[in-house]
Amino acid sequence: MTSPVWHPFTQHGLGEPVPLVTRAEGAILQTADGRRVIDAISSWWVTTHGHCHPRILAAIRAQAEKLDQLIFAGWTHEPAETLARDLIAIMPPALTKVFFSDSGSTSVEVALKMALGHFANRGEDRSRIVVMAGSYHGDTIGGMSVGARGVFNKSYAPLLFDVDVIPFPEPGAEQATLDTLESLCRQRPAALIVEPLILGAGGMRIYPAAVLRMMREICAAHGVLFIADEVMTGWGRTGTLLACEQADVVPDLLCLSKGLTGGSLPLAVTLATDEIFASHLSEDRSRMFFHSSSYTANPIACAAAVANLAIWREEPVRERIADIARRQAELSVPLAEKVSNLRQIGTIVAMEVEQPEGSYLSALGPRLTAHFRERNVLLRPLGNTLYVMPPYCISDDDLARVYAVIGEAMEGM
Ligand SMILES: *Cc1c(COP(=O)(O)O)cnc(C)c1O
Repeated sequence: MTSPVWHPFTQHGLGEPVPLVTRAEGAILQTADGRRVIDAISSWWVTTHGHCHPRILAAIRAQAEKLDQLIFAGWTHEPAETLARDLIAIMPPALTKVFFSDSGSTSVEVALKMALGHFANRGEDRSRIVVMAGSYHGDTIGGMSVGARGVFNKSYAPLLFDVDVIPFPEPGAEQATLDTLESLCRQRPAALIVEPLILGAGGMRIYPAAVLRMMREICAAHGVLFIADEVMTGWGRTGTLLACEQADVVPDLLCLSKGLTGGSLPLAVTLATDEIFASHLSEDRSRMFFHSSSYTANPIACAAAVANLAIWREEPVRERIADIARRQAELSVPLAEKVSNLRQIGTIVAMEVEQPEGSYLSALGPRLTAHFRERNVLLRPLGNTLYVMPPYCISDDDLARVYAVIGEAMEGM
């Protein structure tokens, strides 16, 4: 019997197996057919402290007994209030307001709308968005519009709005990125949106903190709002709580999701400065921020995020991150001669697997994915880019196994 489920980013016509997972704990998934699978990509970058973390599950259970869901327009609840306060306490002080939504994509949509609302409310005609080539900001129409154009969104191009693009800061060509940004900023756009330090879905491409820092300074000099999309990079992925920290950058708008609930429930926030909040503040209702979705700040998801923040405050999360970064630096050494452009930032290790005419749709990625699936390791290359992004709780043995399986796959190439 075929399943009626239509899976995301899945070509059902290929008939590739879709494993059925029944339980998960830490870095391990259990399948219905009795396999123990190592989740080496944190279930698409969301799981930070591990699956079914006891403290997060306890918070979810407790909250579910009290209040499951509440309209958030004009009403509030304790988990959202606590979460907002706890977030403000660990995020850069200039970010003073927390707007909730449900996914990384919606947190980006919210940031873009806040940027345009900010200038509209101030009577300034600024509405263009500047983006970095090769970026990914989600699959909603706005997210796709500010992201890289390609096979993923070719059919939907007529729906996408126009943006201004700066080149990715290739090694040795960083100045071209900064010069393009400078000249675009002179045309008074509303905002720049960037993935700080590393483009995730765009191929795990890393660029220097100094470039991020200079991009921020150029935006500040021209009054262009700086939107940091830390949906992937946030929550320790690059070695620090936020990637922006490494460049000493404080954005005007900050998007967080994925690891916000430790990867347990869908939730996102867009953090904003006082100035952006103030431009929406008025006795005139027509200047309010016009955005909501039904499940905005769902109490159970907020309680999970409160527990995540407690884990960050009370457990040695930064030490665990430093430790798995160090272990991966060692484990990846033998791969250096088998792959090209082996690179690492914090807990993320990425490499290019050589193949003529590489593209996302080439057969290599699916072939590798199948190889790993057969060996009970969940890895999912982005085209020819293979990467490891494990939960911070992964054991030494399981991490070693992931790298052994990759090494084996490279031997077979
Ligand atoms: C995953 C991701 C998004 C989209 O988040 P969803 O929760 O999948 O909508 C946006 N920006 C970046 C940088 C991401 O990695």
